[in-house]
Amino acid sequence: MQERFKTKQINVGGVLIGGDAPISVQSMTFSKTRDVKATVEQIKRLELAGCDIVRVAVPEREDAEALRAIKSQISIPLVADIHFNYRFALIAAETVDCIRINPGNIGSKSRVKEVANACKARNIPIRIGVNGGSLEKEFETKYANTPKGMVESALYNIKYLEDLGFTDIKVSLKASDAVRTAQAYRMLRPLTEYPFHLGVTEAGTLFHSTIKSSIALGSLLMEGIGDTMRVSITGELEKEIQTARAILRYSGRAFDGVNIVSCPTCGRIQADLVTAVREIEEKTAHIKTPLNISVMGCAVNAIGEAKEADVAIAFGKNSGLIIKKGEIIAKLDEKDLVKRFLEEVEMEAAKEKFNG
Ligand code: SF4
Repeated sequence: MQERFKTKQINVGGVLIGGDAPISVQSMTFSKTRDVKATVEQIKRLELAGCDIVRVAVPEREDAEALRAIKSQISIPLVADIHFNYRFALIAAETVDCIRINPGNIGSKSRVKEVANACKARNIPIRIGVNGGSLEKEFETKYANTPKGMVESALYNIKYLEDLGFTDIKVSLKASDAVRTAQAYRMLRPLTEYPFHLGVTEAGTLFHSTIKSSIALGSLLMEGIGDTMRVSITGELEKEIQTARAILRYSGRAFDGVNIVSCPTCGRIQADLVTAVREIEEKTAHIKTPLNISVMGCAVNAIGEAKEADVAIAFGKNSGLIIKKGEIIAKLDEKDLVKRFLEEVEMEAAKEKFNG
């Protein structure tokens, strides 16, 4: 496991990004931002799921004007996502905790300067959000569909802001292609000290996004690249957070929540492990305490896995063992196993939290 790159630390509404700050998880609403009620509702769901920072799209003036009302009803930092219209960025800068723009798309230098000054006045960072599908024309022509084009665009936009004396920056380099995304982040990492917001853009449905994001974000995280991240999934909110947290955990960059080890089952199984593990997954999703649990179909690997687990089940014929930290604490009928197992998991989570 490589050490994390030492990046400059910025502050997005109280959430630190970069340096030695924990890698935060972000998401984005899909309501019309001007629909304050629907947007706040979605943000509350994300908050509850463990989202650290939320972003909303600001395509029209009404959306920019809705930001104040939204901000007053939520408790996580709010980021405004703005393309082209610097006036919306100026309205947003009065309220939000960060603005995502591409300075090159905002227009003349004087307009970008106005936006940068407005952000500086309130100490709010700007995310330079390079998107592989909408590069500035010069980079698209010269480096079509390559990571190099994204990196050149990022460097151009960074310099754009630096020339204006603005350095409160984070950078993202998202393409819909996982490999190109990872290559771009890798290429840019040694060239700048600004923190990176990781993500694969338009990553698709839960199935496709989970795979693309795990490949791109997982490999980058293991290489020590990445300070904050978003997993984008079509039409999902809570699942974005759940997936991002799992990627963080399984790439060794965070240790909160439950890690479930379960066997795939095979011809040796004599109990309904599949139903049991689904119930266990659902009922332990809320646990933030780091716990290893294992659910195994028979004795073949169960004892070995149970030694590594805080709480484990080893199924037998219509019955099973509950094992805690390697010690068998109960032998129960299959119908009673999951209930008791969940009680033990909750007890362990409370204990670890208390000790923790
Ligand atoms: S633990 Fe037992 S039931 Fe599960 S896959 Fe292994 S051998 Fe099969």
